[in-house]
Amino acid sequence: MSRIYNFSAGPAVLPEEVLKEAAEEMLDYRGTGMSVMEMSHRSKAYDTIIKEAEADLRELMNIPDNYRVLFLQGGASQQFAMIPMNLMKNKKAAYIVTGQWAKKAYQEAKLYGEAIEVASSADQTFSYIPDCSDLDIPEDADYVYICENNTIYGTKFWSLPNTKGHTLVADLSSCILSEPVDVTKYGIIYGGVQKNIGPAGVVIVIIREDLITEDVLPGTPTMLRYKIHADAESLYNTPPAYGIYICGKVFKWLKNRGGLAAMKEYNEKKAGILYDFLDESRLFKGTVRKEDRSLMNVPFITGNQELDAKFVKEAKEAGFENLKGHRSVGGMRASIYNAMPIEGVEKLVEFMKKFEAENA
Ligand SMILES: *Cc1c(COP(=O)(O)O)cnc(C)c1O
Repeated sequence: MSRIYNFSAGPAVLPEEVLKEAAEEMLDYRGTGMSVMEMSHRSKAYDTIIKEAEADLRELMNIPDNYRVLFLQGGASQQFAMIPMNLMKNKKAAYIVTGQWAKKAYQEAKLYGEAIEVASSADQTFSYIPDCSDLDIPEDADYVYICENNTIYGTKFWSLPNTKGHTLVADLSSCILSEPVDVTKYGIIYGGVQKNIGPAGVVIVIIREDLITEDVLPGTPTMLRYKIHADAESLYNTPPAYGIYICGKVFKWLKNRGGLAAMKEYNEKKAGILYDFLDESRLFKGTVRKEDRSLMNVPFITGNQELDAKFVKEAKEAGFENLKGHRSVGGMRASIYNAMPIEGVEKLVEFMKKFEAENA
């Protein structure tokens, strides 16, 4: 067996310890004689799995009692619709457009009401986070929406926008659990788990209780109502059972590593190695304004497309996979989520130095 360094933006690298444990439990989960995949989601064994997963996530993120945790399906993209359907009481919402995912959410919201773009960084290919300290947010907006970490462009909101008292809704798909967050600042935090937590197929929604109501837009399908899932404790229908089980293991892995404060320290050190090199390199350079750099997704270029392609190819041959930038932006991108070991980044930088010496 040999594992490569996987810099994929998602689905992405998972902790080896978690994969090994899951492998050991594959045929017989703790004396049940079956795999978690084969188990009723109404069974006692599964009830323990999903309850423990929620309890561990609550502990990790310090989620207050007046927030509910939902394990749903449909990916982050389904939330683009579910959020306006459930929250747009005045049919109006403010969107901060800092990349493709925010833009998609903004466009989807337009199907349900008046979505207003109150800030954007499209003018410089989303390479920075706009000033959001004094935005023109309509008084009757139902919420303000952000994508907190922009997976494709490698930017991150290091301070939250001034919502002027409005509910903040945030897509944390690619930064959830990478650092502590103050949950009380948000109305909804959500994320697809396939970036920084677990296998594709699960989306986690952390929602303040007062936002869970029966007063949703007419025609909202049953499956897209937060209240249905909250009332049924994520077991209204069959949940993505195996995925939630793996997420639960990752939560325990994070707790064992010292929780989110420790992860933040580790992630800063890890990303720092790569950013320091990019700042001094004669060949490679980062594409994001320094103060807005993500700790999770690091895009970079040589400035020469042929050289970029050569780098991606040679890196792959050397055991560094999925370094090609998003198809919409080109260049390279190293996604260095929680489960990417620091050695992976150290070795990548060594390889980049060698490539630079050979190609400068
Ligand atoms: C990947 C990603 C999405 C889309 O996730 P799906 O689960 O594929 O729908 C949305 N937002 C962000 C920030 C992402 O990184």
